[in-house]
Amino acid sequence: MTCVIENLDEMKAWSRRLPLEDRNLGFVPTMGYLHEGHLALVRESKKICRQTVVSIFVNPMQFGPTEDYAHYPVDLERDRALLKELDVDVLFLPKKEDLYPGGFCTSVRVAGLTENLCGGSRPHFFEGVTTIVLKLFHLVQPDRAFFGEKDRQQLGVIRKMVRDLNMGITIEGRPTIREPDGIAMSSRNAYLAPEERQSARALYLALQSGKALIEKGERSADAVRTHMRSIIESHPRTRIDYVSVCDPERFTELERVEDSALLALAVHVGRARLIDNCLVENISCSASC
Ligand code: AMP
Repeated sequence: MTCVIENLDEMKAWSRRLPLEDRNLGFVPTMGYLHEGHLALVRESKKICRQTVVSIFVNPMQFGPTEDYAHYPVDLERDRALLKELDVDVLFLPKKEDLYPGGFCTSVRVAGLTENLCGGSRPHFFEGVTTIVLKLFHLVQPDRAFFGEKDRQQLGVIRKMVRDLNMGITIEGRPTIREPDGIAMSSRNAYLAPEERQSARALYLALQSGKALIEKGERSADAVRTHMRSIIESHPRTRIDYVSVCDPERFTELERVEDSALLALAVHVGRARLIDNCLVENISCSASC
């Protein structure tokens, strides 16, 4: 049976009460408006862990002043029903005023990994993410936490934070879940009008085509970027935020594509800012074999 906890101390107490010998607590932090991408993470946690906590919290600290915090989609009743169906142990619904009381002034910053890609266009984003994830980790005290590769830079940044701060939590990354036509599932897809939904395919098509170009032997990262840009720009209603061909660990732009590369995109379609990525590995092998 799913228990709903709003109170921070109650969440901590619930976790502390788990008997040590029976403890393997999985945690899936989300901002709600759940879709198959979220639910796949929850199912993974249910499969590997003895207990599963899912949190829903739209974190104001990771939104810039002109971003969509005030309009972020919410459907708590539907989310609750979906999580009950999956029989998660706890749905954690912390309140903004409890997590960020007046005078709150502490933050966690992972230097080095957060300056490029999403960190370049959303300067406060990662500090907001790492701060809330650290707070949620303290409250839930999980053994494992599950994150999607759709937000691959976020996954890398959280892994680094956990390592650097000796947090002793296993970070589990899981593949991006897509719609049948390739579009990565995202709560923000709800912003798309039908014709924008068509344009949103540009991200997936650009990534697939960029990957194919590398597999055919292209080694200039700039050529791959230019190719992906041209595909996105050929779709109406798109505005590129960034097109990156970068190191998959450091998120720094590559000049040459050698062993592996992360192709990563952020594109505005209508009022939605969508991101997606594709990891290309064993490049020299697949190209020369
Ligand atoms: P969000 O609610 O957008 O903050 O996402 C919560 C978690 O779900 C994060 O770890 C995301 O990376 C993950 N996630 C979101 N969309 C997808 C997707 N399409 N496939 C897999 N994981 C996802």
